[in-house]
Amino acid sequence: MSVFEWRDAPDGLAYAVLGDPVGHSWSPAMHNAAFEALGMRERYGAIRVPSGELRAALERLAAQGARGVNITVPLKAEALAWASHPDALAVRVGAANTLDLAAGRATNTDVPGFREALEGLDPLPRSVAVLLGAGGAARAAAVALADAGFELRVFNRTRARAEQMLAELGLDGTVLEEPNARDAGVVVNATSGGLHGDGVAVDWDGLAPGAVAMDLAYGPAAEPFVRAATGRVARVADGKSMLVAQGALSFEWWTGIRAPREVMLRAIP
Ligand code: NAP
Repeated sequence: MSVFEWRDAPDGLAYAVLGDPVGHSWSPAMHNAAFEALGMRERYGAIRVPSGELRAALERLAAQGARGVNITVPLKAEALAWASHPDALAVRVGAANTLDLAAGRATNTDVPGFREALEGLDPLPRSVAVLLGAGGAARAAAVALADAGFELRVFNRTRARAEQMLAELGLDGTVLEEPNARDAGVVVNATSGGLHGDGVAVDWDGLAPGAVAMDLAYGPAAEPFVRAATGRVARVADGKSMLVAQGALSFEWWTGIRAPREVMLRAIP
């Protein structure tokens, strides 16, 4: 599927993912498969919107008949600022990834999407969660992990950002000096280090029995972390199940129709 510049987006796209870059996104394949499987005529595209241009792009897309959009890097905070009616979760995380253009509503399906994916690794030792990263995806994971009752330990390359993340989210937690997974029942990689082939070098000693690990990245970007965790934890997953879960939850939020998760999973590489 081609990527449109927002000024060149065609009429007739009911839904789209907006970001910059956005060409790598698997959301169009996933959502179009869902619409087709349900016999719906709506189509979902990918539209490049640079930072600072989201408001103008949304105005144009709404005038062309678009109903809902997903928002990816680097626009999630801008999306929240656009919304006249953000829900409590989007406000709490400080980011929105799903918008209803006509109503000015916004939500964040990354949080429940992460939770759904994590539950797929059940049983989870309910103890310590070690979270790597302090960007947008880490914020969603931190909220979901804290709500699930985990004691949070965060490691980030830039330590001050980890401290700032916990403070802004109003969460209790410890900032680690080193990426050690001691006592962890869950280890979550929410960094984009794998994209550059240089993931975080985790010290896996002292994991809780039955510990699990999840990388929020998918495809080749998840390989370094998944490879390192394999054999050390009971179960390990990449970010594909979170991608499908957050997409399915957006689909349901827009349409009120149960999303065909199996179809969506089969539609991505
Ligand atoms: P982001 O806001 O840009 O944050 C990037 C994070 O990665 C920061 O904590 C950054 O640390 C860290 N980082 C970057 N390069 C690094 C390196 N070479 N070594 C160690 N740490 C590094 O990105 P994001 O939106 O949170 O996305 C993070 C990952 O989650 C991406 O791989 C993205 O594809 C994935 N994601 C997946 C889903 C899904 O549905 N599965 C949803 C959202 C995001 P500093 O603070 O030090 O820069």
